[in-house]
Amino acid sequence: MAKIESTNFAGKKAIIRVDFNVPFNEKFEITDDTRIRAALPTIKKVIADGGSAIIMSHLGRPKAGKFEPEFSLKHIQSHLASLLGVTVIMAPDCVGAEVEALVENLKAGEVLLLENLRYHKEEEGKVKLGEDATDEDKKAAKADMKEKQKAFSQALANLADIYINDAFGTAHRAHASTAIIADFFDADSKMFGYLIDGELGSLDKVMAEPQRPLTAIMGGAKVSTKITIIENLLDKVDNLILGGGMTYTFVKALGGKVGASLCEDDFLDMALTIMKKAEEKGVKLYIASDVLAADAFSETANTKPMKANEIEDGWMGLDAGPETIATFGEVIANSGTILWNGPVGVFEMDVFAAGTKAVGDAIVLATSKGAFSLVGGGDSVAAVNKFGIADKVSYISTAGGALLEYLEGKSLPGIKAIRGY
Ligand code: AMP
Repeated sequence: MAKIESTNFAGKKAIIRVDFNVPFNEKFEITDDTRIRAALPTIKKVIADGGSAIIMSHLGRPKAGKFEPEFSLKHIQSHLASLLGVTVIMAPDCVGAEVEALVENLKAGEVLLLENLRYHKEEEGKVKLGEDATDEDKKAAKADMKEKQKAFSQALANLADIYINDAFGTAHRAHASTAIIADFFDADSKMFGYLIDGELGSLDKVMAEPQRPLTAIMGGAKVSTKITIIENLLDKVDNLILGGGMTYTFVKALGGKVGASLCEDDFLDMALTIMKKAEEKGVKLYIASDVLAADAFSETANTKPMKANEIEDGWMGLDAGPETIATFGEVIANSGTILWNGPVGVFEMDVFAAGTKAVGDAIVLATSKGAFSLVGGGDSVAAVNKFGIADKVSYISTAGGALLEYLEGKSLPGIKAIRGY
């Protein structure tokens, strides 16, 4: 597989799929440019080599097939130019004669920003039919869209010599620019950018060749949203720490009293199945033995420590208790590899943040002793930032949905299109 690091882009035109789907305020000022900054190393490599960079992205959710000015990538042009320190030429569209002419004239070191891919319904390839459509109609419309999507992907591909995918956040989508386009490049002319290379390298260190023991900490609100990940992790990890709101579904499944804690009664059997599978597979499962309980879901609630399986009526567990914090901390600190997804308490409120902070501290300690630690999933990244330890863990994934699907063991179309699996 071709690698960006060892490719010389001199004299080549590279079309780069990035994720510039950034948030704006009402004046169209970018309020968080993390995603743009994340793609800079790849773009800089191409232009520094003497290649030209054709950048493509989606932005927001324009009505498929419609030009809606608020979703124009023009809002990003000047900021991208200032971050790169070069002029960024704005294209009026992402395909078509005018774009082809701009590409034709593109010189070494120049950057062309294509207009929002989602102005074309072929990018996502969704088919919408009226309620009275028959199965035949649906089949025909899907086949028609598939052909159009191929043609659109080829039109994008024809703009460049090399295709680079650096949009990990959309790698779980089988869209024209994230997956289908790759069919039009041979193996030496398609590759991942630095961002995806970094994400996959880090994920492989956890999921493919971990230094043992491998500990996963799964937290967050509900077990129902994490079941597929937990089941997949049971085949890989040595220790599985389950914390946060999902604790109480497990505690109740074992016959404990959970008071007013968050609990998913429909998932009690599932919790028992997970515990049984963990035992069969030799995975050590850790669930809170004590909690910090509160008499309301509020920063000003009365609080007291309670046994996790003896929570009084009207009280709810909102954080891990001291005994649990010590156990979790010891398991984490003695791990060779750590994966953290989801807080173990309502960390947004300072009174219930101690458990999540302790998990973060233990990860930092393990990392300082040589462990590899990967933090991913919206809320744990927010926690790591809140506690100021972002630079003390090995890797932070910002990929969201794509990361979760990867952890579920699913194949990601954007990844498969380039490396074959
Ligand atoms: P998720 O999106 O499923 O990862 O859930 C993250 C949210 O779970 C955070 O906003 C936490 O405040 C919340 N959370 C963590 N522990 C608890 C708990 N014991 N009870 C209710 N919510 C919790």
